[in-house]
Amino acid sequence: MTSLPKPRFLVIGSGFSGTVLARQLVEGMECFVEVWDERSHVAGNCHTERDAATGVMVHKYGPHIFNTDNEQVWKYVHRFGDFRPFVNRVKACTSRGMFSMPINLLTINQFFGKTMNPDEARNFIASLGDKTINEPKNFEEQALKMLGRELYETFFKGYTIKQWGCHPTDLPASVLKRLPIRFNYDDNYYEKKYQGIPAEGYTEVIRRILDHPNITVRLGEKFDVSSFHFSLSAFSYIFYTGPLDAFFGYSEGRLGYRTVTFEHVETDSSDYQGNAVINYPDLDTPFTRIHEHKHFTPWEKHDKTVAFREYSKETEPGDIPYYPKRLATDQALLKKYRSLGEEFSISPGGFPVSFLGRLATYRYMDMEAVINEAIVFSENVLQSFREKTAPPVFPNHER
Ligand code: UDP
Repeated sequence: MTSLPKPRFLVIGSGFSGTVLARQLVEGMECFVEVWDERSHVAGNCHTERDAATGVMVHKYGPHIFNTDNEQVWKYVHRFGDFRPFVNRVKACTSRGMFSMPINLLTINQFFGKTMNPDEARNFIASLGDKTINEPKNFEEQALKMLGRELYETFFKGYTIKQWGCHPTDLPASVLKRLPIRFNYDDNYYEKKYQGIPAEGYTEVIRRILDHPNITVRLGEKFDVSSFHFSLSAFSYIFYTGPLDAFFGYSEGRLGYRTVTFEHVETDSSDYQGNAVINYPDLDTPFTRIHEHKHFTPWEKHDKTVAFREYSKETEPGDIPYYPKRLATDQALLKKYRSLGEEFSISPGGFPVSFLGRLATYRYMDMEAVINEAIVFSENVLQSFREKTAPPVFPNHER
């Protein structure tokens, strides 16, 4: 008796979404998965590579510090790599001096030249907050209500205008809520229970997730719906983790993203700034921050250093999309693309496809959220395949 051939799936994109999904599929059912990535490396924007001149592990698309409260996600990444403890202790270089970020008791006391204890600082900051704002409607109102004008203008206003290219009144309050305000001396940038950086870099973790006999990776393979000839004999299902608007050839217009660029800092020093990340919130400094990558691996020793100034700008054709802006116009466009996505498999020339990840769902997501969603989504997909029903087209719902 001959057995049925194993199904083959195609996953577009080798960031955490595509990679975790591919692994979960081959572990969850008898199948083959091919993973395509248009770049010359796996790992998407988490890609890390040792710098040839210094030997330092560089986060090629900007700093990535893994932080999560999710036990399952933390265990999952540990299957594929050794994570070393790393605490991001960001500093802010302002015209009024160098301060600790996120705003904590040291920041407050230094900024106002005081020696307050936690309760005194809490009352003091509350007295600075704008009492006329009840329900903050945007980033600026949220900041003014929480901190008052002086702290807002020193630490947030300029940085946010540079980072997002728009006024803080045009951004949702939720962007500010990513950052805590602390009335103690805890200067850890993140609040999550588990924090770390993979000892051998993210690309090695991703490479190990993909290291399975039933997974094949093709690099330098650009996926373009208009030239892609779907055939059931090649692949029975496609999972797409690239930008949603790109899948449809930008037919409805472009979703707004900010992108970042990096400028190599020329230095002969062995330690350029003494810290992994220093933010520059003043508007008259054109970049947002400087990252010095040797400080992301304090367990390694390097005689030389490598650092980059980070600039933020609007994403133009050809740029790498980083931060989804999600302005009102973007959200209307997203709705259109999501309906096109829902209908795609039954439309002329369509084929069965699901969309997953930060770019395909157009959301501001940390690595841990991406991994968690890919695990949950793959469980749903496996169940659909077992029950011979169609997998969900998207992992999430849009309001
Ligand atoms: N932010 C700021 N000043 C800082 C750091 C952050 O104004 O020194 C604002 C900025 O608008 C940023 C938001 O807070 O987009 C969230 O910061 P986070 O560090 O979470 O940004 P991300 O991780 O997205 O780079």
